[in-house]
Parts: sequence; C-alpha cells; structure tokens
Amino acid sequence: MSHLTRAEWEARAKVLDIEGRAFIDGQYRPARSGATFECVSPVDGRLLGLVASCDVADAELAVTSARAAFESGVWSRQAPAVRKAVMLRFSDLLQSHAEELALLETLDMGKPIADSLSVDLPGAIDSIRWCGEAIDKIYDEVAATAVDQLGLVTREPVGVVAAIVPWNFPLMMASWKLGPALATGNSVILKPSERSPLTAIRIAQLALEAGLPAGVLNVLPGYGHTVGKALALHGDVDALAFTGSTRVAKQLLVYAGESNMKRVWLEAGGKSPNIVFADAPDLQAAAEAAAAAIAFNQGEVCTAGSRLLVQASIKARFVPMVVEAMKDWKPGHPLDPGTNVGALVDARHLEGVLHHIRQGQDQGAQLLLGGRVALEDSGGSYVEPTLFDNVSNSMNIAREEIFGPVLSVIEFDEAEDAVRIANDTPYGLAAAVWTANLSRAHTMARALRAGSVWVNLYDGGDMMAPFGGYKQSGNGRDKSLHAFDKYTEIKATWIQL
Ligand code: NAD
Repeated sequence: MSHLTRAEWEARAKVLDIEGRAFIDGQYRPARSGATFECVSPVDGRLLGLVASCDVADAELAVTSARAAFESGVWSRQAPAVRKAVMLRFSDLLQSHAEELALLETLDMGKPIADSLSVDLPGAIDSIRWCGEAIDKIYDEVAATAVDQLGLVTREPVGVVAAIVPWNFPLMMASWKLGPALATGNSVILKPSERSPLTAIRIAQLALEAGLPAGVLNVLPGYGHTVGKALALHGDVDALAFTGSTRVAKQLLVYAGESNMKRVWLEAGGKSPNIVFADAPDLQAAAEAAAAAIAFNQGEVCTAGSRLLVQASIKARFVPMVVEAMKDWKPGHPLDPGTNVGALVDARHLEGVLHHIRQGQDQGAQLLLGGRVALEDSGGSYVEPTLFDNVSNSMNIAREEIFGPVLSVIEFDEAEDAVRIANDTPYGLAAAVWTANLSRAHTMARALRAGSVWVNLYDGGDMMAPFGGYKQSGNGRDKSLHAFDKYTEIKATWIQL
C-alpha cells in the first residue's frame, strides 16, 4: 500500500505522461485515419488526453502483425520455460510501475486510488505471474492405447486472440485474458473500453520491455462499434475473449457466426443474490459484507451483490444493520487515500444509475438510504450508495444490471423460496449464502445456478478459483488452469507403431 497523500497524488497526476496511441507491431502509432477521441476523467471532468480512435484499417494492421508473429513461432513455438521467464519479467515490470498504473486507472475510470493499488494492480500482476509460473508445469496426455499404438493428446495455442474488455477493472480484466492467452503461446490484440483505455495502452510497452516479441501483443483503443466490431468479424481472428455486457456478448456470437465461427468466450453481466438466513453465524459480518458487496468499486462490479435476500424472521433486525454499514461507504475524491467510493465512470453512466433509482421509486420500492447525486461541485460523476427495501423480484431494479451502488432488499420465507427467487434471473454469475447450517450451505450451493457460490463471505477466491457465469452471464472461465482451455486447441495424434 502506498504512503502518498492526496496532494502528492495530485502533483503526480499533473506531470503524468499519458500515451494515447495504439500499439501495433511493437510500436506506438496513431490510428491510420488520424482520428482521436477525448479521454475525460470522471474524477473532475478534466480532459486527460486524446486517444487514437482505431477502426477497420487498424484492426487489419494489428491482425496481420499478430498473425505474422504467431506463424513465425517467435513466441508460439518457444519452450514454455522461455515464455514463463518473459511473463515473470512482465509481472515484475507491472509491479515496479504499480503506482503509475494505479494513478492512470483512477484518473481514467474514477475508482478510489486505494482500490487501484490494493485490488486492481495486485489482481493484474497476479494473473500474469500465476499463468507464467503454471505454463511449464502442465503436462499433455498419453492415451491408454494397446501396445502397438501411441495416442497423444496435446494442446496448441489457438492463434490470434482478440481480447475485448470493459472499463470497471480495466487492467485486471485485461490481465485475466493476457495471462492465459500469452502463456499458452497465442498472439493477442487487446481492445480496451473507450471509457478506460489508458492502462492497456501503457502496459504494451512494458510487455515489450519484458521481452515479448513485437506483434505478440497489440493494443487497439477505440469504440466497440468500430474497432471492436472489426475484430469480432475478422476472418483471421481465431478466438474472441470478451468481458462486458450481456447485450454486446450476444452480438459477438452473431459476428462469429457471420464470419469465421471463431471461438467466442464470454464473461458477461450479473444480478447476484446475497442470501441471508436467520441462522447466519454473524449477522454483523453479513451486514458489512452486504454493504461492501454493493458499494465497493461504486457497484460497478459484475458480481455485485445487488439483490439482498433476507429471511423474513430477521428482516426487521437485519435491514437497519445494513443501513448502518452502508453509511460507512461515502463518495469522496478518488485520489484521497481514505476514500472508499469514487466516481462512476462517466456522466452518461451516472444518468443511467439515476434512471434506475427513479424507476425503483416509481414501482413502489421503499428508498431507505441514498438515491442522490453526490459531490456535485466536483465536476465529476458521483452518486450516493442507495438502499431500497420491499423490493419484489419482478421490479426493474431487481431484474436489470444497474452497475451502480444500488441495493435491493427482497424478503423470503423458506430456503426453497430463496432458491426460486435467486435463480429467477437471466444471469448466473455469483451468489452468496449466509448460514451456520452445513447441510443447508451445501444444499443451497448445489441449487444456485451460478458460477461462483460463496458461503459466509462475499466475493471470495483468488487466481486458483475459476471465474465465470452460468446462463446469460457467459461461458468458459477466467482464472485458474481452466482459463487455459479457452486459449488452446486439443489435438489427438494417433500413431500405429
Ligand atoms: P460493454 O459490453 O458495453 O463493453 C465491453 C467492451 O465491448 C468494450 O471494450 C466495448 O468497446 C466493446 N464493444 C461494445 N460494442 C461492441 C461491438 N458491437 N462489437 C465489439 N465490441 C464491442 O460493457 P461495459 O459497459 O464496458 O462493462 C460493463 C459490463 O461488463 C457489465 O455488464 C458487467 O457485468 C460486465 N462485466 C463482466 C465481468 C465478468 O467477468 N463476467 C467482469 C467485469 C464486467
């Protein structure tokens, strides 16, 4: 954790070098069209710089470079131990630039600097390091054939991977793709969100410095409907690794079908239930976790615990505890090290969150806390953490992913009711259960249709835990050795001896 004060962070922000060009074939360069877009900080509305607005022509260049690097074997056919050494150097460079990258992340998307330093950077570094360390320890398979045959089951990199990522954890989401994709020998084209492109652009240079050959990692900033679409439709991209909304995820499946049937791996949205039973071992801990589950990162978290299901017998006692716990989450200046709620990513998103809050009120939910714009004089985009009681699972605030700090309390009677309500959503990313009853914990974990289930905590796991969704939350998994499945083809080689 850094010792810097807000004034010191602000002083660094003033002299920060901001690179806005694309990174193609080992070099920074403007978009071929010369087009740029403005990168505005949601912290205070300040213009951070101009960023290359890439489109089809840049996608073409990047794919050509990535393909050439792949076919040359300069990375794809390197010994895993060699790739490991480069990945470890890359993670070391991320570590030694952690403060610079954390500052970029906070200025670009508004999250508290304390979170950039303690969550985003460690998460990103860990993914690159963990995947690098793993790659020379994984063995292929030999089939159990008769003695006159030999059956080999080997893994090969898929080729050119386009990684299209969102703005809520820009560097960490990118690293969850880069770690396994690069470790397994692919060439990658990273398309960061137009709302948070800066750290992705910066780390391309660090990867090159670490020894990643030119062309193996290209970074194309720009809009989804231009450069994102161009990559998704490209006939020479072998796989798409996406994190973002369910709406865009569905579109990518269409693009793949209309083009070369590239593999499409999707980490999409969520509306996760956090279920508190009367026999929870520690209601205070459950209340604090419920508050953190919706307020951390301004609620801009795919696994945000946005539906709090509370057993009827404790609701009158428990909901006030949640109200109190949420009062500890207050919007503040993101560069103040004591701030735990920063700015929403931009003014448009703030408007969307406020729209949902109005809808909640119009549909009859009871507003217990928050609901208003905060820090209005800042020039940035801030909203108060907001709590609605008496929500029914059919209301819009319970069905739609708000992606802001808006929590809905829904009452249930029995465990079966909790399961029915929890699973009554198109999403299936995560769920949590609070109970001291071991049998109930396991029964619930089995019944919940979600890729991650947490018991007596919210948001557990590290690089060892696979992460991804059921239903319209996506397919495939990030993190853990399961992530390697996305970036490798399995080949069966059968030999008559
Ligand atoms: P988004 O879907 O709007 O954008 C994600 C990325 O897709 C961006 O880079 C965007 O430019 C690009 N894109 C947009 N339209 C495109 C198109 N037509 N073709 C190709 N690319 C296109 O999502 P967002 O607003 O950046 O991020 C928030 C969403 O991400 C939320 O739904 C959240 O739940 C989800 N998310 C999921 C996970 C997970 O692991 N499941 C993690 C973080 C965020």
